[in-house]
Amino acid sequence: MTPAKRKITVLPGDGIGPEVVDAALAIIKATNVAVEFDICEAGARAFQKGIKTGIPQETVNSIERTRVVLKGPLETPIGYGNRSANVTLRTLFETYGNIRPVRELPGVQTAFTGRKLDIVIVRENIEDLYAGIEYMQTPGVAEGLKIISREGCEKIVKLAFAFAIAEGRKSVHCATKSNIMKLTEGLLQHTFEEFAPQYPSIQSRHILIDNCAHQLAMRPEQFDVIVTTNMNGDILSDLTSGLTGGLGFAPSANIGNEVSIFEAVHGSAPDIAGKNKANPTALVLSAAMMLRHIGEGKAANDVEQAVLVTLESGIRTSDMIGVQNPASTTAFTEAVISNLGKRSQVSPPKEYKEVDLPAREIGVNAVHAKSRRVIGVDIYVESELEPKALAASLEASSKPSVLRLEMISNRGAMVFPGPDRRVSLVDHFRCRFVSREPASDLDDADIISLLTAVGAKHRWMHIEKLQDFDGAPAFSKSQI
Ligand code: NAP
Repeated sequence: MTPAKRKITVLPGDGIGPEVVDAALAIIKATNVAVEFDICEAGARAFQKGIKTGIPQETVNSIERTRVVLKGPLETPIGYGNRSANVTLRTLFETYGNIRPVRELPGVQTAFTGRKLDIVIVRENIEDLYAGIEYMQTPGVAEGLKIISREGCEKIVKLAFAFAIAEGRKSVHCATKSNIMKLTEGLLQHTFEEFAPQYPSIQSRHILIDNCAHQLAMRPEQFDVIVTTNMNGDILSDLTSGLTGGLGFAPSANIGNEVSIFEAVHGSAPDIAGKNKANPTALVLSAAMMLRHIGEGKAANDVEQAVLVTLESGIRTSDMIGVQNPASTTAFTEAVISNLGKRSQVSPPKEYKEVDLPAREIGVNAVHAKSRRVIGVDIYVESELEPKALAASLEASSKPSVLRLEMISNRGAMVFPGPDRRVSLVDHFRCRFVSREPASDLDDADIISLLTAVGAKHRWMHIEKLQDFDGAPAFSKSQI
């Protein structure tokens, strides 16, 4: 009996999507691997049909069945609401880890040619500022919440190390801005430093994200795997694709607990859509990552090697620097198919092991503190008063309260108490109140009565409780 074929959901997507996805499917078919494609709709056409998420229910059902997706780029057309179908897919199937490898490719000329770059960015894919939780706090001041969880950090750190081991890599850098964002970015650094000793075969090092960007431009060959938060990873991975030839060559995998989605880093490139000009390499290399993920390592190697051999033979697409007679998308694809089974002269297949990721429970994850107290509250107030006048008013309002005004900051800089400062102010003040009894644990009634008193005189936008967990403050101090 012939074994059942592994089903894969395919989303051709928008713009150049169908052209590069067709190229990848033709190459996969030519490897004779036992897979079957379920072609589904997502993106612009779904939005135009009135599907608000851009992802029809039939597509969701297919992904739930197959758990593996090969995807073209999806547009979010203007005028159909501003939800991104890409973000919906990532969130719906919790693909928490985004793996973006780049490497020097034969014949792809860059400023770094000859330096044998082979770098993987492992980007947290769900949390951070990309959760998109934003508010206009006053008509002139916007706020976005940067949410980073211990759970999210643990998953991405373990994925980075598991991936490094599976690929026989030597080092993992953790890139954060923990010197400024000690609690959010710091949580990734601390989680990384806690788990790194469990992987003694891999060198581990923390690096500040700005230095990492500088080092990537100066000496990129020092990097192997870089694990980082969502926005940092988004920016760094576009930078690393630029180091090795551009978006036409950058594949990616979105790894989840249950579902994984493989796609090129590039978008729908509407300017070249339908012209048979798009470089299919990024999507074809994403397809190779997908084949490896489903256990078809030989087919994955064959596809990767055929791409390398094609580039070594001098065939070029129009996005490559210095190209004279570019090959069309279909001509490039045919060349790759004709090279299946051949091996690259410069870059033979690597040894890969299965990525060994511990299964995780779905549900509410919590980290428990042994002790915790509420020691104060930050009340965010909209006011056009000067800091001293605002402080006098708040001190009067809080006189009967068990909390006292400790300080006021404006855009992070402390403006009360202390001498007048030459800083430009906006109508958005963080007013910090702390318990008059340092050892006490405030209850909600204390905070609500203070809020009522402050609210009688001033417009407030939101509050944050000041807590301490296990004796350590669980909030940031103001920048002096
Ligand atoms: P883009 O589609 O990546 O295209 C930027 C430029 O890069 C193109 O105009 C083209 O440059 C070049 N390019 C990209 N891929 C190429 C390829 N395979 N072959 C040859 N050249 C390629 O970025 P964008 O214009 O900012 O975004 C367009 C749409 O795509 C937007 O709606 C965006 O939301 C969406 N998008 C989707 C995804 C996704 O689905 N994951 C990701 C990013 C963007 P030339 O002008 O030199 O031809």
